[in-house]
Amino acid sequence: MNEYEAIVQSLSDIDQRIRQDNVGIFTEILILFDHVLVARTQPYSGYDGYQVGGRELRYALVDPGSGARNTRRPYYVGNQEANVSLADSEVVSLEQAWRWMTAWKADHAAYRQHLVQQQRAWREAMEAGASDMRAREYERLRMEQEPLPPPPQIWGPAQEKAWQAEVDRGEAAANEVLRDWDHRPRWVTVLLVGNVGPCDGCKARLKVFLYDLSVELFPKALVVVKSVYTGQEHKRGVRGGADRLETGYGYPDRAQQMEYRSPTGTVWRPWVRIATPWPVQ
Ligand SMILES: [Zn+2]
Repeated sequence: MNEYEAIVQSLSDIDQRIRQDNVGIFTEILILFDHVLVARTQPYSGYDGYQVGGRELRYALVDPGSGARNTRRPYYVGNQEANVSLADSEVVSLEQAWRWMTAWKADHAAYRQHLVQQQRAWREAMEAGASDMRAREYERLRMEQEPLPPPPQIWGPAQEKAWQAEVDRGEAAANEVLRDWDHRPRWVTVLLVGNVGPCDGCKARLKVFLYDLSVELFPKALVVVKSVYTGQEHKRGVRGGADRLETGYGYPDRAQQMEYRSPTGTVWRPWVRIATPWPVQ
């Protein structure tokens, strides 16, 4: 799967999560080696972030013990910004992507295990979340038309097969890269896809992540980290409880609007912005 196809798949996954939950903010990370998709995370919400364990995350940008500033945080991100955005879906998505890449580099077996775990978690989430909507939709149709259509199936043998094929393709692609490890991957592209632009805290996290990939994991590769998001290009927002915090979602500059079309005709026009190394905004 190439970058274009992977983005279409991801935007469609996120739409599906939104349909299940009616509402929500989701992000998914796609990892490409030499322009071929080798792994992706499931679409996470902020709620999933809480489940994974908040402050233990590498990309929390606060000290796990005290909640104070840590040295990996760019100077222009305040303590409050880092704390308030701690449970954003971007944090858990980045954490999962980091775990995947370190596991892949360290041990090939762990890589496959990761993919299989992701597949299981995704399927369980789909089954759990889909049941209600499926039943309601079926009820609605039953009131309107005779004879009854078969109940819509969100996860079935076809999806199972497609997922398995994706796991196999990802493994084959990663194997290809492993054969010539000294020189490959030449390109590492990580895409953060979501239905809202990253907040100021998460924009800084993307810079830290970019640093980790280019310096620590893939010093010989050309690393690109991109944010791909639907909704507004840039939107001011206020969040937090008693101490309200102003933040901006998305990028105020240099985001480009691109068009993606699925084979079934769905069209998305998300904003795409390349993350730059800090302290450049
Ligand atoms: Zn955020």
